[in-house]
Amino acid sequence: MRPTRLDTLFADATTLPGIGPKLGKLLAEFTGDKVIDLLFHLPANLIDRQYRPSLAEVEDGRIATFDVEVMKHDAPPNMGKRRNLPYRILCGNETGYVSLVFFRARGDWLTKAMPVGARRMVSGRVERFREQLQIVHPDHMLPQAEFEKLPIVEPVYPLTAGLSAKVLMKAIQAALPQLPALPEWQEAEWLKQQGWDDWHSAVQTVHRPENMAALEPQNPARVRLAYDELLAHQLVLALVRRDRKKQQGRAYPAADEMQARLLALLPFPLTGSQEAAIADIRADMAAPMRMLRLLQGDVGSGKTVVAMMGMLQAVANGAQAALMAPTEILARQHADTLGPWLDELGIKWQLMTARNKGKLRAENLEALSAGDVQIAIGTHALFQDDVAFQNLGLAVVDEQHRFGVQQRMALSTKGHGVDVLVMTATPIPRTLTLTAYGDMDVSRMPDKPPGRQPVDTRVISMDRYAEVAQSLGNAIKDGARVYWVCPLVSESELIDLAAAEDRAKALHAIYGDTVGIVHGQMKAAEKDAVMARFAAGEISILVATTVIEVGVNVPEATVMVIEHAERFGLAQLHQLRGRVGRGRDKSSCVLLYRGPLGETSKARLTIMRETEDGFKIAEEDLRLRGAGEVLGTRQSGLPAFRLADLEAHADLLPAVHDDVKLLLERDPLLKSPRGEALRELLYLFRRDEAMRFLQSG
Ligand code: ADP
Ligand code: MG
Repeated sequence: MRPTRLDTLFADATTLPGIGPKLGKLLAEFTGDKVIDLLFHLPANLIDRQYRPSLAEVEDGRIATFDVEVMKHDAPPNMGKRRNLPYRILCGNETGYVSLVFFRARGDWLTKAMPVGARRMVSGRVERFREQLQIVHPDHMLPQAEFEKLPIVEPVYPLTAGLSAKVLMKAIQAALPQLPALPEWQEAEWLKQQGWDDWHSAVQTVHRPENMAALEPQNPARVRLAYDELLAHQLVLALVRRDRKKQQGRAYPAADEMQARLLALLPFPLTGSQEAAIADIRADMAAPMRMLRLLQGDVGSGKTVVAMMGMLQAVANGAQAALMAPTEILARQHADTLGPWLDELGIKWQLMTARNKGKLRAENLEALSAGDVQIAIGTHALFQDDVAFQNLGLAVVDEQHRFGVQQRMALSTKGHGVDVLVMTATPIPRTLTLTAYGDMDVSRMPDKPPGRQPVDTRVISMDRYAEVAQSLGNAIKDGARVYWVCPLVSESELIDLAAAEDRAKALHAIYGDTVGIVHGQMKAAEKDAVMARFAAGEISILVATTVIEVGVNVPEATVMVIEHAERFGLAQLHQLRGRVGRGRDKSSCVLLYRGPLGETSKARLTIMRETEDGFKIAEEDLRLRGAGEVLGTRQSGLPAFRLADLEAHADLLPAVHDDVKLLLERDPLLKSPRGEALRELLYLFRRDEAMRFLQSG
């Protein structure tokens, strides 16, 4: 149960002055509709109302505040019909006059709010119109006593259509006095060392900025709140992870014999990274706990073999294994590479994708549930509701887009205590791994199989397009395959498609029918057909929008041209380049850019030229773009943080991580005073669901 002292924070925002049901609905979509949501909505700018000159001396264009008397209302003739004429109110004091100007005004409201003879504090941007001072739509017109309640330096919050700055500001300022004092959940020592205030003061401070510096993410009050949020997040991940380790999984002793037979079939020795990852998985699966492991390795680092070794361990122990690929093409590719080995080992397997329909699908389902099939390879069709395994032991997910924590958990519901291995080719920096995948154990595969030729990467201006296009001739004469990638950049897919089609036409004019095109508007089967012709060499130059399926393996492809390379992010460029350099022949990558290049684009292209190390590229990407973007919150399974800005606060992550680790060692059930306070922190960030991990037993 949520502690009652938090009730005011979780009251509806409509309990705040100025927020009616209609705005409440708007807020629900924009900030969240509880008081706490508004308090987590931080100001982005401010207005300084300290400038209080005389009417005689005020400078044009500045925001100024005056103490004036209302002198005269000047309504436009025919109010209501000619609403484009302004409504004016003349005000003044001993130093001069100012007109307040309103367009589309409601006269009745103005007469009530500004009765002639009343004294008002009036604040807004001053301008001079035909020698007269005026303020169009003043920000405030209030009696002294009410005006004094407003902050002198007024925070300005991010807005959405239908929500006015003033209303939002007033509501938030009205919420501040209701803030309860909460017990401190941070270590006293740490607070002192960082020079941070308590939570209560920190919230007040961020909503009452005194100057622009107070709005900086590095302002101590903001840093403290960011730490709190990251702490809540990491604590939950740690609790989820601990709980998973407690859950009974099944122990699958190492399958030495079967694994050795696979190794004997492989035409290559394993890399050190592969061996280490296999050892991690072997130990996880042999232990009686459920495995949830992330295998992080660049494109081409050889993750599939690692997964296969895990699958054998399940199969050797009489369980089934499933390998889920993000796309049809990739599922087929896995089937093509793994199938022959599986056959050789006498393992019964089947391919299951959305294309297996009707009778075939019925047979597939039957075989799975009867246990006639030991390994299933497929797309998400494998995890649909009607799919039942007889005895699923290991689910391997070769992911394209990163899943969220919830989805990862859901994967394992197809059996009892199913081990889960998630593979990703998107290397992310170590600090962010903790944030995005804190609930998983991680194996990283930094080495690549030996004998790979480095990809010769060149950065070339679009001015030399003709030269580049001509040079492809030599390459394809020797049997090379070329990818030519055009970016998706405009809002309209059709415009982008047109650009790709134009490029295909231009290349067709030189190279004829060996040029093909593949794009996102094509049906899956059409795409597959084109890819198949490219793989078979019937097409030598494949023009593609960025839909080239991640992971598609065409070893003969040795040239990658990326047009408008300056428009791609580093991670994307790296992924695309990973399509070449997979075979024995020397590969090259041409990054065609259109100048002038900005600093960041220039830096990106330089990094691409200098390294092929995905982890290094990821670190650089983080430096250049910031964490939010590297992870792309939506895809990453990262919650969208409200107070923490990963770009600015990434350096807090290691401290948060250590903090959580130590805390759970000392106080595993959060029973100490600090632990109790942390429970409130979890409520504050709506991580109530974590409470169930805190029961003893
Ligand atoms: P990933 O899925 O990590 O991108 P794959 O598992 O598809 O990489 O492997 C890419 C290619 O490298 C495949 O052709 C695979 O057979 C080959 N390969 C895997 N491990 C090794 C190794 N240790 N030595 C040489 N080649 C390897
Ligand atoms: Mg792969």
